[in-house]
Amino acid sequence: MTKPELKSAQKTKAGSLRAGSLPALSGLDLKEIQEKLKPLNLPAFRARQIHSWIYHKYVSGFDEMTDLPASLRDQLKESFQIPLLNLAHLQVSSDGTRKYLFSLADGQLVESVLMSFHDRKNLSACLSSQVGCAVGCTFCATGYLGFKRNLTKQEIVDQVMSIQRESGLRVGNIVYMGQGEPLLNVDEVVASIRAVIGSVGIGARHITVSTSGIIPGIERLAKEHLPLTLALSLHAPDPQTREKIVPITRKYPLEELIPALKDYAETSGRRVTIEYVLLAGVTDSAQQAKGLADMVRDIHCNVNLIPFNPIYDENGKSLYKRPTRAAQEQFKKIVERSGRTVTIRLERGTDIDAACGQLHNKFQEK
Ligand code: SF4
Repeated sequence: MTKPELKSAQKTKAGSLRAGSLPALSGLDLKEIQEKLKPLNLPAFRARQIHSWIYHKYVSGFDEMTDLPASLRDQLKESFQIPLLNLAHLQVSSDGTRKYLFSLADGQLVESVLMSFHDRKNLSACLSSQVGCAVGCTFCATGYLGFKRNLTKQEIVDQVMSIQRESGLRVGNIVYMGQGEPLLNVDEVVASIRAVIGSVGIGARHITVSTSGIIPGIERLAKEHLPLTLALSLHAPDPQTREKIVPITRKYPLEELIPALKDYAETSGRRVTIEYVLLAGVTDSAQQAKGLADMVRDIHCNVNLIPFNPIYDENGKSLYKRPTRAAQEQFKKIVERSGRTVTIRLERGTDIDAACGQLHNKFQEK
């Protein structure tokens, strides 16, 4: 295994990094940029120019905006900065996956990931929607952090822009699958989706929102009529197992969640994705595969099986294990009897702290 390239953005202690004190423009839409620029009394086209430099040319400073007069660039530098987030740490995997740890203005840390797949043209960015998470899934490193706070729309959108600025690459797909439960921060997430569509230029069909099963959030998302993909992190077809590994099941039980998901698929006309983490001896039995097949048979969906990416505690122990490749294939075969398309997720970044929350936790400990 190739050793991952480790890069620290600044030689400061993680968590003590601060974004500058000036208001940031990246992550804002055109209207909001116009609003911010009002005190400068600029002609309307200046806001459009600045918006275009930020979102189409990925600039990180006003000096790069070469079609603005030097005096205006100086004026802008005194009042604003472009990036909102600071890069605290970057890990690059041997397969090209780039894992970012960003520090926010209040010193909190969030993770984002840039992934490429050989069978897909577009690069995918996985975004965080909260600092920490209240859902507490037992197989998730973020779950162990607890909930810190919601991210703002601007903090969510600037993750995509920070990735594009750092890598120089264009992101084509967005997945809300990083730290946090997006539908427990649904207002800011929906606002960020609208900004990703309108300003970053990524269509709704290239956006996936993943939820652990927040029923009011699913209903709210349906009302937005956005042709995006909803992914449900199901992880177990039987309530007993699901309650153990996804504790929010007690609040939103499967017998209410599955009808809500079906309603979403019907209202939106979009095929939903069922995400299912394979934990050896916990969620990978033949009986559970049959239960999953029965459950998804009449849902307009695809099934994505995720072999568990171990998270280790300080003693080098992991609570769960990944099933063998043969066990994964066996499980897949049974679920395929439902007539649904079933895939096993291609693993990315396994030589870095790719599981959501791992990198954050590492820095938090330090
Ligand atoms: S898997 Fe998602 S919903 Fe569950 S604890 Fe982790 S971040 Fe939260």
